[in-house]
Amino acid sequence: MTRPRVGIVGAGQLGRMLALAGYPLGVDCTLLDTSADAPGAQVAPLMQGELGDHAALAKLAERVDVVTIEIENVAVGALESLQGSREVFPPPAAVAVAQDRLAEKTLFHSLGIPTAEFVRIDFEADADAAHALGWPAIVKTRRMGYDGRGQRVVSSRAELGAAWRELGAVPSIAEAFVKFEREVSLIAVQGANDERAFYPLAENVHRDGILASTVAPYLDAELQRQAEQWLEAIMTKLRYRGVLAVEFFHTKTGLVANEMAPRVHNSGHWTIEGAETSQFENHLRAVLGWPLGSARARGHAAMLNLLGRMPPRDALLSIAGVHVHDYGKGPRPARKVGHCTLVDSDRERLLERLKPVRAVISRSNQ
Ligand code: AMP
Repeated sequence: MTRPRVGIVGAGQLGRMLALAGYPLGVDCTLLDTSADAPGAQVAPLMQGELGDHAALAKLAERVDVVTIEIENVAVGALESLQGSREVFPPPAAVAVAQDRLAEKTLFHSLGIPTAEFVRIDFEADADAAHALGWPAIVKTRRMGYDGRGQRVVSSRAELGAAWRELGAVPSIAEAFVKFEREVSLIAVQGANDERAFYPLAENVHRDGILASTVAPYLDAELQRQAEQWLEAIMTKLRYRGVLAVEFFHTKTGLVANEMAPRVHNSGHWTIEGAETSQFENHLRAVLGWPLGSARARGHAAMLNLLGRMPPRDALLSIAGVHVHDYGKGPRPARKVGHCTLVDSDRERLLERLKPVRAVISRSNQ
């Protein structure tokens, strides 16, 4: 039997964890990245090339059965150009929506999914319209924003105009500041024949716009049902295949959608040890048209991102039950260099067991 071959555009930590999830299943992953020493290159063959380069993508496609992505900022035209010869999942049209905050919010609205109020800012004069949102507001570039980049909190019309110019005077949106109680995300996967699986909601804490920690499941049956219904609507509309993540604000009046990611997501890393099937394995199963695995949680799980530099491994590993993931990256302030996960059948005990892990991480950052 020939081994199934998956081409992954991007070889960051997400590509690396996808490739690792392929090993037990006998799936060969080949990665495409601009950098020869991207994290994924340590575990799978890497082709060097620009992610938007049609020729580079065509070369990747020649070597594999199906092409997928681990990063959404890929030239959609290049993905579309492969469609005649290879299957590409998620569909390029879904990637296009996720690349553009305006298209994304417009899709949410068309499906009745609540979002923060927003206005389109194409010219400085459009900033006048933002007044109706109230202050503070957040100006966000429509494209290329991630981990809090490409956005500013502003408290007046003048500040908004200045922030828009500072962000490059590019097509943007301004959105009302949401007073949320918590941030949560839902990760879903859609396979062949519209088979679907939904992970439990996870609670996320961001610091400076970057995910710091995730605890799952976020047990709220009503919110879970609501979020699943919305993700199902998105996946159906986009004829989706693969893992889809949507981040929400949990407010006094319920969930408000913030953004979606057409790929495996940092808030789903806990699923490697904390769920019956990880998001990475389920993504591969979905794009290959295989049956999906159960997305049920094995108790409670907590994931802490390791930012800037890896703490000493022995210090982390001396704490019972800690699973360490090192992405093989060099140190750089705020860079996601790894994560660690703890699983426990009891939520309170899990939160208690996190304390020494947090202490090791904060010591290493001093
Ligand atoms: P984003 O890049 O849109 O995911 O934003 C990064 C983080 O900024 C979010 O996870 C929130 O913590 C915060 N944030 C973004 N948009 C809003 C908003 N409209 N109201 C309040 N906080 C926000």
